[in-house]
Amino acid sequence: MPQVDTHCPYCALQCGMRLDGVRVTPRDFPVNAGGLCQKGWTAGALLTSPRRLTTPMIRVDGALEPVSWDFALDFVARKLAELKEQHGPDAVAVFGGGGLTNEKAYLLGKFARVALGTSQIDYNGRFCMSSAAAAGIKAFGADRGMPFPVTDLKNADVVLLAGANPAETMPPFVQHLRGADLIVVDPRRTPTAESAGLHLAPAPGTDLALALGILHAVVEGGHLDRSYVDARTNEFGEAWRIAATWWPERAERVTGVPAADMRLAAAKLANARNAYILTARGTEQHATGTANVGGWINLALSLGLPGREGSGYGCLTGQGNGQGGREHGQKADQLPGYRKLDDPAAREYVAGVWGVDPDSLPGPGRSATELLDALGTDEGPKALMVFGSNVVVSAPRSGRVQDRLSALDFLVVADFVLSETAALADVVLPVTQWAEEDGTLTNLEGRVLLRRKAIDAPPGVRSDLDVLNGLALRLGKAGFPADPETVFEELRIASKGGVADYSGVSYDRLRDGEALHWPVPADDHPGTPRMFLDAFAHPDGRARFAPVEYSGPAELPDEEFPLQATTGRVLQHYQSGAQTRLIKELDDVVPEAFVEVHPDTAKRAGLEEGDPARIRSRRGETVAKVRFVQSLKPDLVFLPFHFPGEQRANLFTNPALDPVSRMPEFKVCAVSLSTVDGA
Ligand code: SF4
Repeated sequence: MPQVDTHCPYCALQCGMRLDGVRVTPRDFPVNAGGLCQKGWTAGALLTSPRRLTTPMIRVDGALEPVSWDFALDFVARKLAELKEQHGPDAVAVFGGGGLTNEKAYLLGKFARVALGTSQIDYNGRFCMSSAAAAGIKAFGADRGMPFPVTDLKNADVVLLAGANPAETMPPFVQHLRGADLIVVDPRRTPTAESAGLHLAPAPGTDLALALGILHAVVEGGHLDRSYVDARTNEFGEAWRIAATWWPERAERVTGVPAADMRLAAAKLANARNAYILTARGTEQHATGTANVGGWINLALSLGLPGREGSGYGCLTGQGNGQGGREHGQKADQLPGYRKLDDPAAREYVAGVWGVDPDSLPGPGRSATELLDALGTDEGPKALMVFGSNVVVSAPRSGRVQDRLSALDFLVVADFVLSETAALADVVLPVTQWAEEDGTLTNLEGRVLLRRKAIDAPPGVRSDLDVLNGLALRLGKAGFPADPETVFEELRIASKGGVADYSGVSYDRLRDGEALHWPVPADDHPGTPRMFLDAFAHPDGRARFAPVEYSGPAELPDEEFPLQATTGRVLQHYQSGAQTRLIKELDDVVPEAFVEVHPDTAKRAGLEEGDPARIRSRRGETVAKVRFVQSLKPDLVFLPFHFPGEQRANLFTNPALDPVSRMPEFKVCAVSLSTVDGA
């Protein structure tokens, strides 16, 4: 095949790359401007991995045995129909992913609600930025991670990054920050924090106290943008009533961040001509995630940043299609176009597009963590279909998740390698991956991109759309096309009039290279690179301050679990590592889990650099090799979560949920540290 211009299979930056067969070269695309990280450079190796699945498999006497596609799809359809017949439609659950293309996310939601009639569908984006999405909707009336192009950041004087480490998670993004004085909020001295003019290192789980302290310093210092607040926002008084009690010295006692640094951060932001506040997983993955992000948005609003050209608030979405994945209906409470499933008008419109009775559409189902927790229980689903997700590694309290998967009557996993979740399945369906199919994704700035097919898939492999088409037909349902462009044409109509309106986007416009940021409400609409310049998306056009109260982490250290643990990512691996652990160049650099510990803390536990350590919480324990990190707080340990088996960091993480977004508390819990022989 000729050279094909396409996009990276991994994160939400969606760097532009060129594929010549399986050889990757970077190309000049606005978000990466010719740069790629190590993951992108080596992504071609995914396409030739010897661990690639090429035949459907069914478990027989405990072992997965190869079968034909017809046999596998007949078997799956029959089992699903049986379980539905015995226990009702909610006996079958569906779990999607933020890496699925827009077309797959859309068809999966339709498949669950129309072909299966189940309310039990959610996806791994719930673990990713759902709290930022919830806070954005509350504040602005719409959630588009970054409501401005990434390239706008080049003109920023000051950027505050709350819980973001792009130097490791999306390195080409960092070039857009080079002109700015960075304020980095992170309990660890990450590579991003190293490059900052000001590093604020709050105790894990105290982000909101810090945001409140800086907001207090803004007002105290006379920096409140009163004319913006009066003209463009509501409810400042309610938010200030709380922030007024968070004078920086009080916030210092909770966070450990010096009050002087909070005042310095407030002054830097206020004195900048152009400033941005960006949040990411570090502040979002908490049981108070929506309130945390609300606190940072309050700060941005107090300074008059959102909806002003050259300034703003944004969320750095993580997964490749994290943005599009939350817009098209694979979320427990949503329909395509970012419509709410419990909105009668939305149900009627989408049911009309799907040719079904609105009353036949199920209501909202369980969120991801709650869904996984209910599997195989008396009240919960008996069968689960997983597309594009590896929950055995990526979900909180993953030992419990593994138990629940094992308790199911029937587990089906569609993947292109035998992930840790696929290895537990009754049926494994081998599906296409990024460069083997066309599909659209929506990057972190809301730009819809066409990721093109560059090579043929190996014989025996089918696309997820083909799988859904084949199963729907066997379940007696038509209207599930297998061709991506045909699915997209339907998605356009289904999204029309919604917040995320794609009705003016077409494959032809994307092939022509048009930069289409949603909403794009008509064929001749140029797209909306910058949202909220004239008005926010609430009916009155005004943004909302959030009256957010600080409550702290869900679990605090005690005598038995005296340390705090936080989890995160490394440059070489992506999410559960199911893809990047296949690639020698990446795996050679970071082949196994490690735990970062302050040397004094390690030595007190009888551990030296390189020793295997046991990290234990109330929920489980993991084993990882000790790395001494002098800059780490003595009461904190850090582990990456990309590794399987007993190295899974998520064996100990806390599934306590944010009450608004149902985001789990990945980022902080109480643990003990010992030698592997120790208690
Ligand atoms: Fe791929 Fe993200 Fe790396 Fe860019 S930054 S090459 S999109 S993983």
